Amino acid sequence: MTPLNENAPKPVFVSVRPHLRGSGSGDSPQSSEPLVMPESGPLVDRYDRIHNDLRISVTDRCNLRCVYCMPEVGMTFQPRDALLTFEEMVRVARVARELGVTALRLTGGEPLVRKNLPTLVQQLSALGFDDLALTTNAMLLAPMVRSLKNAGLKRVNISCDSLIPERFNSIRRRGNLKTVLEAMDVAEAAGLTPLKLNVVILRGQNDDEILDFAAFARDTGRVVRFIEFMPLDAQGQWDHSQLVAGREIFELISARWPLEAIDTHSSAPAERFRFVDGQGEIGLISSVTQPFCGTCNRLRLTADGAIRNCLFSDDEHSLRDLMRAGADDDVIALALRSAVWDKYPGHAINEPGFLKPSRSMSMIGG
Ligand code: SAM
Ligand code: SF4
Repeated sequence: MTPLNENAPKPVFVSVRPHLRGSGSGDSPQSSEPLVMPESGPLVDRYDRIHNDLRISVTDRCNLRCVYCMPEVGMTFQPRDALLTFEEMVRVARVARELGVTALRLTGGEPLVRKNLPTLVQQLSALGFDDLALTTNAMLLAPMVRSLKNAGLKRVNISCDSLIPERFNSIRRRGNLKTVLEAMDVAEAAGLTPLKLNVVILRGQNDDEILDFAAFARDTGRVVRFIEFMPLDAQGQWDHSQLVAGREIFELISARWPLEAIDTHSSAPAERFRFVDGQGEIGLISSVTQPFCGTCNRLRLTADGAIRNCLFSDDEHSLRDLMRAGADDDVIALALRSAVWDKYPGHAINEPGFLKPSRSMSMIGG
């Protein structure tokens, strides 16, 4: 790291608005609170959670308009000069790597609408992360697979909420299923594996396809991850009645094809299960009904350069402003350390008085 520059800007951390937090109940960690933030070692919070997974949103724009994420019309986006440049993203990633971050995921908005993404992947790959992955709606993926793979991308998560073309259109509003299914084949053939599908199940819209998705996992050997609908839609229309709990999905699938838990001891958000009688894997991301805050190891960099320690927190620290004001790497490192240190024990969605975050999923980076 560069030597400390006395004149460089110091990070100023502002809590954007008061936000009800998990009290440490349920899945939240219990720990006596150390008083001093460590100045060296890994990125750790007050609850001994080590953070080694960074999600970078490369854009807040998207070529689709999924019902659970964005309105059909009227979504506003950041001006282009508000977005981090590749150089700035790589700089934050490098400092994070030096602080022990080992896994990097590119997301958005739709990451593939950002021009020259393989160039960014190549620069990030050179930093030596153990894992370098991409979450995408796959509309633009197939023709880019070769260049992304050559640039050092290791794997992709592809979002796909229906296996019925008309249904796909009504949930994602733009794009088409055929392109997404073909992109899965191309990505898999190029070795961007294990290939994971992200499926958001909405009550009354695609909950009748849960077994079809399980059959898809069995037929293809791919990992199908069911994600609970979270209160992160830009329209603010989320409510509990649209959510299908991970437990309900588990019971439905296991009654048809017995499942056994894959014991991972990891911080991965998905509870993982294999089929007792064959290939394929199911993941349940039950962020609302069974929060996994107690093992959370994730940190997010928004497209406009704010570091966030939780999807559901409005506490943001603008690394962009620090960098553009001439901050050196030590200041960036301190900002990352402080962001992690300030993390609350849990997201508190299920507590009375929970406030929906002011920025939605595509603005934060899912
Ligand atoms: N555009 C890319 C995509 O759709 O894969 C990457 C960004 S998207 C925000 C990342 C993931 O978040 C997707 O799997 C998407 O289905 C999921 N997602 C978006 N809004 C959500 C919400 N309100 N609740 C749960 N998952 C959501
Ligand atoms: Fe776009 Fe992904 Fe949000 Fe759908 S979920 S609107 S593809 S950012």
